This record gives sequence, C-alpha cells and structure tokens, in this order.
Amino acid sequence: MAQKLGLALVAGFVTAAVIDFVVLLTTGMSAAVLLSSFLGGLVAGSFFIEPIKGGGKAGITIALVDALLVRPSIAMLLYQMGVILLPEEPLPGTELSNIPFLIVAMLVSLAIELSIGFGGGFVGAYLRKTLAPVKPRVTPGVCPYCGAKVPPEAVYCPYCGAKLKEA
Ligand SMILES: [Zn+2]
Repeated sequence: MAQKLGLALVAGFVTAAVIDFVVLLTTGMSAAVLLSSFLGGLVAGSFFIEPIKGGGKAGITIALVDALLVRPSIAMLLYQMGVILLPEEPLPGTELSNIPFLIVAMLVSLAIELSIGFGGGFVGAYLRKTLAPVKPRVTPGVCPYCGAKVPPEAVYCPYCGAKLKEA
C-alpha cells in the first residue's frame, strides 16, 4: 500500500511538473497552470481504485506540493535561464499596502487549486475503476485491494476502506 502511494505520488508530481513546464514556457503564469493540478491529480488518483476518495486525497497532495514548491521552482529556473520574464508591473491591487488582500487572494487561489487536485484525483480513480476494473482475487480474510488481513465477515476493509462485499 505504501509502495503504491509512493508510485502514485511520483507519477502525479512528474505529470504536474511537465505540464507546469510546458504552460510556463508557452503562456507564462496563467490560469492554464491549473491543468497541472488536475492532470497530476488524475494520474495519481488513477492508482487508487477503492475507495475513490483515496484518489482525491492523492490529488490534493499533488496540487499542494505543485502549487507551493514544484511550480515556483520551475518558474524560477526558467526565469534564471532567461526563458521567461516575470511580470514587471505589479498586477492591479497587488501593491504592498494590500497585503491582507494578497494573503486572502493567495489562500483562495490555493483552495481552488486543491479542489481541482481533488477533482482530478477523484476523476482519475473513477476512470480507472470504470475503464480497467481490477478483478479482486477472492481470498477469504484478505483484502484484495490492500492485502491486509480482514475479518472474513467484514463488508468494508478496516484498513483501506474498500468495499469487500455487496451488502
Ligand atoms: Zn484493504
């Protein structure tokens, strides 16, 4: 389970970073960067089939790290290479006197980004489940999704929350 999580996150981060790179190079810091949260989340989420909201959580993680760490690093790198320019004029309403406004605006945009990451992860898990359903190996007492030992009568896996039986 931990291994799958690691793989999902790495795949999601790489996807998000590649899209950040392409978007920053072509359109600069525009709303198109939100694509990276969505698609990064989607890729990470596609590793999670049950429960679907597990995919959403992976998507949120991707969006958070991408927005706070990966994308700023890529933007800085491209800027230092002289490939992109940072906006010279501050955007309207972003003067230093407006710091409370700026903080609120940042939090709002982060919240939007996290929701988009969650959505991407959720859609990824849903698509994966719909398009390539995993045939659970039916071994009584073992969760087919995470491999944990579960009580044979369990309807839901107590470890990963997957549905084990039709109730
Ligand atoms: Zn399980």
